[in-house]
Amino acid sequence: METLVSKDEVRRAVAEARAVGQRIALVPTMGALHEGHLSLVRAAHERAEYVVVSVFVNPTQFGPGEDFEAYPRDLEGDLELLEAEGVALVFAPATATMYDPGATVIVDPGPLGDVLEGAIRPTHFRGVCTVVAKLFGIVEPDLAFFGEKDFQQLAIVRTMVRDLDLPVRVVGCPTIREPDGLAMSSRNVYLSPDERAAATVLYRALRAAEARMLAGERDARALVEVMRAKIATEPLAVPDYTEVADAVTLAPLDALDSSPARALVAARLGSTRLIDNLALEVG
Ligand code: AMP
Repeated sequence: METLVSKDEVRRAVAEARAVGQRIALVPTMGALHEGHLSLVRAAHERAEYVVVSVFVNPTQFGPGEDFEAYPRDLEGDLELLEAEGVALVFAPATATMYDPGATVIVDPGPLGDVLEGAIRPTHFRGVCTVVAKLFGIVEPDLAFFGEKDFQQLAIVRTMVRDLDLPVRVVGCPTIREPDGLAMSSRNVYLSPDERAAATVLYRALRAAEARMLAGERDARALVEVMRAKIATEPLAVPDYTEVADAVTLAPLDALDSSPARALVAARLGSTRLIDNLALEVG
């Protein structure tokens, strides 16, 4: 496994792999890797011979007062995990390498970037789009793997690739959970034991909505109420949003029909913000 910090070295290594006919996959991450990230790496290995993982805590997707400084970092541990997964190349650039001080162009995610997470973190998705577009430009992957855990991010990256005609296929991968249902996240390490116990309420709320849907409820607002009521049973959890939305446009739904819908929740546990989501499939 090669670990590189410069864009030119990455371009050279990828070009060599491509020259011998290997398909290139990219898995973008912010490090502090867990089984969720590794599931993306494994999915990438199924579809490509040469797997690149980027490890970069992207400052432009953090707003003022968010946890950029405190975000967990463990490059050494990450490299051990990625080596064991048979990754070909890790790209771990410094911020000054990734962002030229003179850079002024950013990628606007459009209206999908204004709702849900975007309503609370107004500059988040333009930071995500900008760094992902740059990573696509540096690595030029055939395929790029993203987790459904960050469902809105996946939807926005798909839209960006479509609207900017980027030559990459985006692959979404299912959310990996702890045995009690909590979605794995690098931020889970911030939780105190009490908050960790309370944090399962996000998944419990999603499952309660799903159970109500399976029992025949088609009123999306009623499903939102089910989730709100469930989160309200957990005093340590402060909800940011609870929504049932179209899985493609992320527009809030009034009623479920045969088109794919998604339940999405965000809540704060102490100073930690967690998000989760679940497919709502009628029939
Ligand atoms: P992050 O390091 O948090 O930016 O995440 C990097 C990638 O891993 C993103 O595509 C995430 O959606 C994905 N990811 C994070 N947590 C999980 C999880 N629990 N299951 C599946 N994918 C995940």
